Amino acid sequence: MRLLLLEDSPAEYENLLVWLRPHFQIDHVTSVAGVRKLLAGNRYDVGLIDLCVDDSRDLATFLTVRELAPELPVVVQSGLQEDAIALEAVARGAQDYLVKRSFTAELVRRALRYAMERAGAERELRESRERYQLALAGARDGIWDWNVLTGTFVVSERWCAMLGLAPGEFGLEVEDWLLLMHPAERDAVWSTLQEHLAGATPHFEIEHRMHHAAEGWVWVRSRGMAVHDAAGRVTRVAGSQSDVTERRAVEAELVRRATTDDLTGLANRAAFLARLQEASDRLDGNPRGAFGLLFLDLDRFKVINDSLGHQVGDRLLIAVAQRLSLGVRPGDLVARLGGDEFAILAEPVDGPRAAEELAARLHRTLAQPFVLGDNQVFASVSIGIVACESKGGDAEELLRNADIAMYRSKRAGRAGTELFAQAHHAAVAGRLDLETGLRRALAEGGLSLKYQPIVGLPGAELVGFEALVRWTQPDGRSVDPSVFIPLAEETGLIVELGAWVMQEACARMAMLSRMHDGASDLAISVNVSSRQFAHGDMYELVRRVLTETGLPASRLVLELTETALMENPVTVADVLTRLRAHGVRVHLDDFGIGYSSLSYLQRFPIDSLKIDRSFTQGVPGQSGDEAIVRAILSLASALGMEVVAEGVESAAQLAHLAGLRCGFGQGYLFSRPVESRALDGLLGRDFRPKALPPALERPLAFGHRRRAGERVAQG
Ligand code: C2E
Ligand code: MG
Ligand code: MG
Repeated sequence: MRLLLLEDSPAEYENLLVWLRPHFQIDHVTSVAGVRKLLAGNRYDVGLIDLCVDDSRDLATFLTVRELAPELPVVVQSGLQEDAIALEAVARGAQDYLVKRSFTAELVRRALRYAMERAGAERELRESRERYQLALAGARDGIWDWNVLTGTFVVSERWCAMLGLAPGEFGLEVEDWLLLMHPAERDAVWSTLQEHLAGATPHFEIEHRMHHAAEGWVWVRSRGMAVHDAAGRVTRVAGSQSDVTERRAVEAELVRRATTDDLTGLANRAAFLARLQEASDRLDGNPRGAFGLLFLDLDRFKVINDSLGHQVGDRLLIAVAQRLSLGVRPGDLVARLGGDEFAILAEPVDGPRAAEELAARLHRTLAQPFVLGDNQVFASVSIGIVACESKGGDAEELLRNADIAMYRSKRAGRAGTELFAQAHHAAVAGRLDLETGLRRALAEGGLSLKYQPIVGLPGAELVGFEALVRWTQPDGRSVDPSVFIPLAEETGLIVELGAWVMQEACARMAMLSRMHDGASDLAISVNVSSRQFAHGDMYELVRRVLTETGLPASRLVLELTETALMENPVTVADVLTRLRAHGVRVHLDDFGIGYSSLSYLQRFPIDSLKIDRSFTQGVPGQSGDEAIVRAILSLASALGMEVVAEGVESAAQLAHLAGLRCGFGQGYLFSRPVESRALDGLLGRDFRPKALPPALERPLAFGHRRRAGERVAQG
């Protein structure tokens, strides 16, 4: 430790030297001039200063030293009568004073040591205060300090500046703080603060708006922490306030981007689902919050897009979005879900009727043409509605249901509206399972064929079989063809399924004839769908199968429905004509229930009409059905076509049909469809029902078209 000793009395110097030398490295001077010289080149830990020296007296001595070394801890010595001066020196920054000739070695040493310690502590305190001041001045945060006991609320300059206030402008009471808060958040701030004061939270933190003198509202984050006294009572809360307006603006922009559709500016799917879920949750708690959900899909948008281009397509979407927005009430939410799909959440909506009225209004709004640049475009939407009156549920599911309803509406035609019913959902869900199952059945051999005999009338001799596809699921349950054939047609699976049936039926027939002479003239009728013509190469398929199986073309009959013919008349007629040139025959299935426009019959190469079983079953007895059967028979006769009556179940039907000279029959009366391994058993069988007289005439050549005008041989 280095000691600066100012002492002009040699005796006292001697004394001090003895006492202090073991503890300090001592530099001794006798005048203030000497001090000045020493301090110019040295640093000391402590100074011991005699106030009365050669060149200076009293307080001036201390003040000069102090000026020379402001940081140096100084202990002053004074004479007995100079108490007042010594005290003044202490008041001006001396650490301590000693009265000359009244101290001991121990006393001096202690005074010097304390002087050094206290000076160190003071310096630290001063530095930390300075740091704090610097921090306050430099911080982006404003600082506040609430004295809970007195209610004063002290704030930093920066705090004021953040709110556009001059330093003195703030009232300094906790109420003044609360008054500057946005009323919407004031209660929340106060209760959050109270929670913290009650010890429920480790610190207080909340974002809220504060009034800015010039800019209106700014968002700030206030944070704070309670200070407790020894008894554990909260005495103060010290805290900060930072401006988060910008961050919140960025956040808000991000949220906006995440929740709006770029093209139309409407809410996007995510935002819509969120709002829908809120509405739904509200409804579950309160049945008065009924709402309507509309799913809209533009009709023929793809056509517009493809023919007029994407730009026009986009402009149409924007224009539709605008009209929809104008068509709803102010609180309703319009969203674009993607592509040409829109959704509307109408809230509150009183039941399905109100939702349907809204839909009708929207249809009307969209009915006006859209003028997009040079184009005038007509657009319409198909609308599916889910009306939630007492129960909400999962938003995704609600939207899916609305989608299902929309899809049904679309299938029924353009610009329609359909209300969702739970049954629709079951149908769709079931359909999906079914489709998966059917794919698997196709891949894994889950399909089989049954064969139903077709007989000549009236003798009931076997002329051929109709192949009927069967699907038995792995669990043993079978699915009706009237269910899975339409499904296969819709999904396109029919192409594969049809090819398999064709191959299987022809191969079976070829094999049967190789093994049994009695089978060599029998025909095989295979049902085909129009989709097989549209999407598969029917001509190639038949040619290939016939070649591979060796079955003569003349023994293959294709059964098509009227609808199948009409869906794709040009292609179908072309393929049928080419196949017929090879000898393949064509029968028109389920005749009578389809188009009822008979003019096309002549345009297609048809060999036989199959009277739909609904007519067969009405004879004898139902005069309407009788008349139709009669008309079909005479029409066929005029066109040189044969007639097969489907669904013959009773001897009376048979007798009646035979009486009308219907050439062929098929039905449970003769045989149900049988499995392939039972086919041999049918070959020699007599299909005549016991009740009927034996055949009177020769059988006709099954299924071949006669030349027009040629009459059936009368027996
Ligand atoms: P379809 O071609 O008119 O077949 C005749 C249907 O009538 C068969 O029903 C048959 O079992 C039924 N049937 C036969 N005799 C009687 C009877 O006396 N009374 C009654 N009530 N019904 C009788 P199935 O097998 O359920 O076939 C239904 C429809 O499924 C067929 O009608 C046909 O349109 C379609 N289908 C069946 N197999 C195939 C196939 O391989 N391909 C295509 N595309 N469609 C097929
Ligand atoms: Mg058929
Ligand atoms: Mg039929």
